[in-house]
Amino acid sequence: MTRLYIVIPCYNEEAVLLETATRLREKIRTLMSESVITSDSRVILVDDGSSDGTWELIKRIHYSDNMFSGCKLSRNQGHQNALLSGLDCARGKCDAVISMDADLQDDINVIDEFVKKYEEGNDIVYGVRSSRKNDSFFKNKTAKLFYKLMGFMGAEIVPNHADYRLLSSRALESLFEFKEVNLFLRGIVPLVGYKSAKVYYERKERFAGKSKYPLKKMISFALDGITSFSIKPIKMITSLGAIFVIVSGSMLIYSLISYFTGHSVSGWTSLITSIWTLGGLQLLAIGIIGEYIGKVFLETKKRPRYIIEELLDDDISKTE
Ligand code: UDP
Ligand code: MG
Repeated sequence: MTRLYIVIPCYNEEAVLLETATRLREKIRTLMSESVITSDSRVILVDDGSSDGTWELIKRIHYSDNMFSGCKLSRNQGHQNALLSGLDCARGKCDAVISMDADLQDDINVIDEFVKKYEEGNDIVYGVRSSRKNDSFFKNKTAKLFYKLMGFMGAEIVPNHADYRLLSSRALESLFEFKEVNLFLRGIVPLVGYKSAKVYYERKERFAGKSKYPLKKMISFALDGITSFSIKPIKMITSLGAIFVIVSGSMLIYSLISYFTGHSVSGWTSLITSIWTLGGLQLLAIGIIGEYIGKVFLETKKRPRYIIEELLDDDISKTE
């Protein structure tokens, strides 16, 4: 039997949380009665600094059933850090931990399969969406582009896998060996290694509430993912620089020839376009380099990834 923990980051999720908890409780009770998981398995609900009644709701859920633990972060730290704090709480207490979203988009009926794959000896089990038909055309296309780009940049990520996954206690420990502040779990988990498997599921529509990932956040998430994983963009800039040096060499020869043959007055168009192109490219290059310097800056500070304000966990009170 597996002692299973489930970690759910929640940010302003009061509209769905009660329903999620009800359905999960039912599912978990079934798994317990079928002796798939142990009776001390738990769900950790992490409140990522919500501004609505999410924490009050988590408290209520915890007091009505101590199978649910609550963890309140001191402020909004973003999905990845909230998830990490929950995983940290689960460390050392379980055989395996599953992370999932609060909005019931991840099909909880595949938990059985996750556990089965774990018991077959897999340390990491990825939940992969079998289709994207519930996504908008735009999200679909941008997601494809993102996976292509990440692949090109050399980051090994599992396509169509979000943060619905199972980690064994061993994989969880290894994950915490990665100390970076700029955390992109989807990219780091494959780096952990060990034997892994995939479970396919149909991703549903959000049960209620709005997506916490508007376009702006999605773009910054993608950019973060790329720049915390690979230095390829900087290498590309260097190559581009080299190409321009060669081009400018030929331009020099060309202009000298035109000067000596008396054709030097014309050529304003080529001049003005090259000024704009070069100016633009330089700004872009500086921007990309700046992005990396910013990352180094943040990493050297070693700021905490999250701060836990309150913890409701019967498991912990036992050890204290
Ligand atoms: N989330 C979070 N902190 C944030 C943003 C989101 O903990 O700053 C949680 C959110 O409550 C949900 C999960 O991360 O459980 C995924 O967010 P969402 O469903 O809005 O993303 P989408 O499925 O639209 O990509
Ligand atoms: Mg969602």
